[in-house]
Amino acid sequence: METPATAVPAAPAPRSAPAVTVAVDGPSGTGKSSTSKAVAARLGFRYLDTGAQYRAITWWMVKHGVDIADPAGIAAAAGKPDIVSGTDPAAPTITVDGVDVSVPIRTPEVTAKVSAVSAVPEVRARITGIQRSIAAAADLGIVVEGRDIGTTVLPGADVKIFLTASPEARAARRSGELGGADLAGTREALVKRDAADSGRKTSPLAKAADATEVDTTELTLDEVVERVVALVGEKRAAK
Ligand code: C5P
Repeated sequence: METPATAVPAAPAPRSAPAVTVAVDGPSGTGKSSTSKAVAARLGFRYLDTGAQYRAITWWMVKHGVDIADPAGIAAAAGKPDIVSGTDPAAPTITVDGVDVSVPIRTPEVTAKVSAVSAVPEVRARITGIQRSIAAAADLGIVVEGRDIGTTVLPGADVKIFLTASPEARAARRSGELGGADLAGTREALVKRDAADSGRKTSPLAKAADATEVDTTELTLDEVVERVVALVGEKRAAK
């Protein structure tokens, strides 16, 4: 099959530096952010929230009046915003064209539009390039959380985790984060976003064949963190 010109490019050649890369993928509300930040803090690694980057480019599209129903318009604008992620797990940051967007990227409007924007191949190619540069610059190690990290962004990651949880548990967590927002509505929105993210053509939400799946429904955050830290320890010992 012919590869379209806009497809996400292949991963760069492996680095010689001894950085450890940890990919944490999974649907919304499975605990990816809390787990990834805690693991990175424990190990002294950097942390990258790739969902925040897709939210940031979506925020920019909305702000500049780009029609979210027009993939060609989104593709044409994909190279314009300057998106910068700060990777300290204790205080991750995200700016667009120098503006701190950490709060506005979490609005219901951005959340409702992000799947459409992130499905556009030119957006994915742009953001994937930024993600790989950040990972390549991490000297000790990095935990990268998202939907396609183990499959597409860092297919050679040292440790790949795929977090899952029941839709009820995921909705309860997300609704708690949103200050007790309507549970049924939150569940419906999550399921819809996951279906869009799993069903898109370019690097959909998917578990890598060599990822370890962890169902977090009945686990505490500490238990999940312990498991991931143990897996990283095993990999490091074998390196
Ligand atoms: O993780 P978060 O819920 O903030 O992600 C927001 C959205 O960004 C996802 O619903 C998905 O559309 C997109 N995303 C993606 N690939 C990633 C991370 C996030 O497409 N690696």
